[in-house]
Amino acid sequence: MPILSHEQETNPWVSAEARIDNAAARLGLDEGIQKVLKSPTREVTVNIPVPLDDGRLEVFTGYRVQHSMVRGPGKGGIRFAPDVTLDEVRALASWMTWKCAVVNIPFGGAKGGVICDPAMLSDCELERITRRYTAQIMDVIGPEVDVPAPDMNTNERTMGWIMDTYAMHQRHATTAVVTGKPMELGGSRGRREATGRGCMMVTLQALKKFGMAVEDTRVVIQGFGNVGGMAAKLMAARGFRIIGLIEYDGAVYNPHGLDIGALAEHRRETGSINEFQGGEAIDKHEAMFLECDVLLPAATENVITSTNAGRLRCRILCEGANGPTTPIADEILADKKVFVIPDILANAGGVTVSYFEWVQDRQGFFWNEELVNSRLEEIMLESFDSVTAFAEKHKVDNRTAAYMLALDRVTNAIKLRGIYA
Ligand code: GLU
Repeated sequence: MPILSHEQETNPWVSAEARIDNAAARLGLDEGIQKVLKSPTREVTVNIPVPLDDGRLEVFTGYRVQHSMVRGPGKGGIRFAPDVTLDEVRALASWMTWKCAVVNIPFGGAKGGVICDPAMLSDCELERITRRYTAQIMDVIGPEVDVPAPDMNTNERTMGWIMDTYAMHQRHATTAVVTGKPMELGGSRGRREATGRGCMMVTLQALKKFGMAVEDTRVVIQGFGNVGGMAAKLMAARGFRIIGLIEYDGAVYNPHGLDIGALAEHRRETGSINEFQGGEAIDKHEAMFLECDVLLPAATENVITSTNAGRLRCRILCEGANGPTTPIADEILADKKVFVIPDILANAGGVTVSYFEWVQDRQGFFWNEELVNSRLEEIMLESFDSVTAFAEKHKVDNRTAAYMLALDRVTNAIKLRGIYA
């Protein structure tokens, strides 16, 4: 690995390219194909004028990057955050391509982002931003083109606004244009829990591999949002011991296992996990280094870097977030023999149930939750087994194996389609 500045190491697109290069070299892909795999198909930047509640007119910048549409429509979330960058959205879009290929669902990869701070905006302002953003990317989305979904700071309600805006222009309800919608608008049962549930499923499969008992498994989770919160709830119910929970403003520790229901209730009442009586407050930076069996980062990118990877004390790293680990940190984790369940596999439960939602919308026929969860399990376990078997066979780490499988699938699709020129 070349020496990189901290800024380069934590640039998501630099990481995304490094992972493509690594897997492509091992697969012996030719230079032309590598160039295709590293070049997003389309990148749209929109400037969105939005009247604020106080009467001022503000302009927000948004992106939609479609990294690949070779295996199917673009697929991926939209995030609202003050620090969104084009390089980040580009990386996240490419990760969606590889994620959909790892779990072998018929989508390409895309991602969107709007630079804004949802904490400073009213619901009405958020709705206007969402609708205007949708209107400005309308030509490049659609059930057969590119299907957005929730991501950081967006949710079912946001998806409802996108669906409605799109539908008003189409002159008919078009449910399959987005996934992660409310149930009443064609959402799928089990979608809200899907990413966290998928993380639990692959973790259980890893425990099985190591002959570890669920009751003895100590878990530290970073993030208490849709992914971390659901993973915590489902894993606690399954018998895991969640000994640490880390949020952006504090962390809480209980070696006997936190009562996740009580913690969620406390957060609902006070707005924070701090001051929770059922555990001890600890430093949020230090909490990552608690001795545990499973560390589950479920917040944001670049939390495990060359500066802290050496201090982790987990046996299994289950990446609920996208891009939590930098490529340099990967090498350190490999030396420490941490078993990594890479993001493009670990958090693929969300997009997998998004796929189910899209299928149900297009059929106009809805499944019960049991069916959703059992089909999700089938895909997650099969994908876990094929990634780990590939890693063992080719003597590479799990991340490299997942990328190799994904790149191979996308490359085959490119070759079968041929290049239209
Ligand atoms: N934002 C989620 C992800 O990063 C879900 C994407 C989707 O369902 O399309 O995987």
